Amino acid sequence: MTETKIATLKNYIGGKWVEAKSDKTEEVFNPATGELIAQVPISSQKDVDDAVQVASEAFQEWKEVPVPKRARILFKYQQLMVEHWDELAEIVTIENGKNFNEAKGEVQRGIENVEFAAGAPSLMMGEQLPSIADGLESGVYRYPIGVIGGITPFNFPMMVPAWMFPMAIVTGNTFILKPSERTPLLANRLAELLELAGLPKGVFNIVHGAHDVVNGLLDHPDIPAISFVGSQPVAEYVYKRGTDNLKRVQALAGAKNHSIVLEDANMENATTQILNAAFGSAGERCMAASVVAVEESVADEFISLLHQKADGLKIGNGLDEGVFLGPLIRESHKERTLDYIATGENEGAKLVRDGRKDENAKSAGYFVGPTIFDHVSSEMKIWQDEIFAPVLSIVRVKDLDGAIALTNRSSFANGACIFTNDGGKVRQFRETIDAGMLGVNIGVPAPMAFFPFSGWKDSFYGDLHANGKDGLNFYTRKKVITTRWV
Ligand code: NAD
Repeated sequence: MTETKIATLKNYIGGKWVEAKSDKTEEVFNPATGELIAQVPISSQKDVDDAVQVASEAFQEWKEVPVPKRARILFKYQQLMVEHWDELAEIVTIENGKNFNEAKGEVQRGIENVEFAAGAPSLMMGEQLPSIADGLESGVYRYPIGVIGGITPFNFPMMVPAWMFPMAIVTGNTFILKPSERTPLLANRLAELLELAGLPKGVFNIVHGAHDVVNGLLDHPDIPAISFVGSQPVAEYVYKRGTDNLKRVQALAGAKNHSIVLEDANMENATTQILNAAFGSAGERCMAASVVAVEESVADEFISLLHQKADGLKIGNGLDEGVFLGPLIRESHKERTLDYIATGENEGAKLVRDGRKDENAKSAGYFVGPTIFDHVSSEMKIWQDEIFAPVLSIVRVKDLDGAIALTNRSSFANGACIFTNDGGKVRQFRETIDAGMLGVNIGVPAPMAFFPFSGWKDSFYGDLHANGKDGLNFYTRKKVITTRWV
């Protein structure tokens, strides 16, 4: 038997690929096959210190580079991403499991973030008031803040880092990325393309690892700001520890998104949209549809059409033609999902479609088929917790008031959708729902790069969200200059 040596990834510090100073590694698997594809270093505090030192030095020069020159590097980077689109998407599918089309869509979202950030010369402009009193004028100027730490989750290895580093660096900061240890491969390719685009050494750095790297970033006195995206308990922890260290922190967290289906909804559209939103990316999206609150009068019709469509979804390796539903990220996550399905049954919900019985659910990959529960209530754990898998809970409600009351009982408040053509009800939904990203007759209301990704309640900790002008404001600070001409 021949033994193939699986490579251990390197960190990227100061434009060099360097081995981590710790001996610890973790295995990285292709979730569709269970195959070992890499070892990721679990770096130490010393690796973080090295990266911060290099990034702090690079900041001194980078912040002086004129904004249009910094933007030009992003234009080149955008071009490289377009040229390498398929290659980047393939890496996403191999390490994350989502199907190739979804991976291509994710790369597109990344490209859009780069395009938005490339508008920095306009975005960074200040404001002037030439006359605040006799002979006096005032103006605001924008400046970068320093070395930014970015900590990202496994489910969007392309898009989520791209929410952070393009805007952070184009505004003159330097950046240290700690990618998810479960999907660490793409980050290294992104660094290679940044180098090709002409980004100076030390402006973008990667330190792979887990808790120790996160704590190293959170505690380092030379890091003024942390961008985090991940699960709710970790987001809360990162926000508390980071702000306790007097840092600026944005921490985007978990979700339990509700879709409301009213009796006048176009059922064909509602079921297709909710099918994609619940089972796309195997439900591993912070904007996934996890709960449907459907008006009792149309519940049977809705469920039967959804069930029929779910039966037609092809499950398998996301690189194979026509596959819709890929695997979950790890065996342990599959086990946790199976536990939740058992919990739902024990809690008395009616299991309408059992994803444990799908053929691929027994293969070497970590598959669970589309799973639908009916007659779920807000006392049940399957309604309360973020399962982050292709498990959809349906709650039958009397009317819109009942649907809104149910949605607003959730501790999470990332997204919410409504399916109806009744303008008055859309208005009531918009004005009374507790969620930061709303959809009307669409299933995944994830905002584009120029709007903020604006979760509420336990789906977000901080003030300024990722993306849009919030992102710009998060990565910059202002000086107000008042001048008397004498
Ligand atoms: P996770 O919280 O397990 O990990 C996120 C990051 O935190 C990783 O880099 C990980 O290494 C680090 N981390 C994990 N545990 C830690 C600990 N105890 N101490 C310090 N650092 C720790 O999240 P995940 O499973 O990779 O990602 C899925 C979660 O992310 C879901 O809850 C999803 O809803 C959320 N998410 C939210 C958004 C959003 O915009 N709100 C977007 C994408 C994902």
